[in-house]
Amino acid sequence: MRKQKKRGFTLIELIVVVAILVALLLILVPRLTGFTSTAAEVQCQQTRQKVMEMYNAYQIKGEPVSIEDLLKNKDDEYFISTPKCASGGKYSVVEIKGLVTLIKCSKHGSISSGNLDYTPKGIQSAMLEFMKFLNEQKKTNSSIIRELTGNSKLNNDAIRNFMKNEIYGGSWPALDNGIVNAANLPKGDYKIQICYRHVTDPNVENPYNNPVPENAIIYASTIQGGNWNTSLIYNQDDNKWYSGKSLVINGKTWTEVKTLMEEKGWKPVEYSE
Ligand SMILES: [Zn+2]
Repeated sequence: MRKQKKRGFTLIELIVVVAILVALLLILVPRLTGFTSTAAEVQCQQTRQKVMEMYNAYQIKGEPVSIEDLLKNKDDEYFISTPKCASGGKYSVVEIKGLVTLIKCSKHGSISSGNLDYTPKGIQSAMLEFMKFLNEQKKTNSSIIRELTGNSKLNNDAIRNFMKNEIYGGSWPALDNGIVNAANLPKGDYKIQICYRHVTDPNVENPYNNPVPENAIIYASTIQGGNWNTSLIYNQDDNKWYSGKSLVINGKTWTEVKTLMEEKGWKPVEYSE
């Protein structure tokens, strides 16, 4: 048998290999950095999801615990390690009893869990509950409105942003397409929304301090912000959608909107699921 001489890498080969590796790393590192921030967001979301699941599990078990205790991992009782955001975001909790619970990360937004009612009246009453909750909270926490809505004070934009982004996950609840068809409106992605009466006159009592259905117009539109023209309004008195020639609804009470609808000959949309 012929003896073969074992041979290692030559210096040149090593240099080439190292150079290739360095080149690869230079390409990969920036990509990995981007990947890490997405991974952190997913991790954060999953962490909050886990806390929420634990919270729900204890509710079902009939031994409710507070989310604050879960987040602190009080007495190391709930998790192997204390829930944390990988990007160093701070967790805060909004718990509106019987309605919704939110865990918000200062860097990655919020997730919610609760018994939300997606009917027009359900969406309206959720908004009124949140406004009452925020009004109550601001007595002891002056920055709560900004923290939760991004606005300095509670107004139509603030409460709408909060509802859309924090409660409904970025988009208002969808309207049944059958209603759009029955109303003979152009096809589109209609969302059920609330426009809360905005008054700038200092002589009129601030309607945001005392949230009532009279000031919360339920309407549907394909545009989710800043456009107060609509051809679909929900009649809070007879619980039917009405349609007609486009109306501007901002700054108005339900009584005012209803009068306009009558003047413009709006008709109920005949539709059953
Ligand atoms: Zn986070």
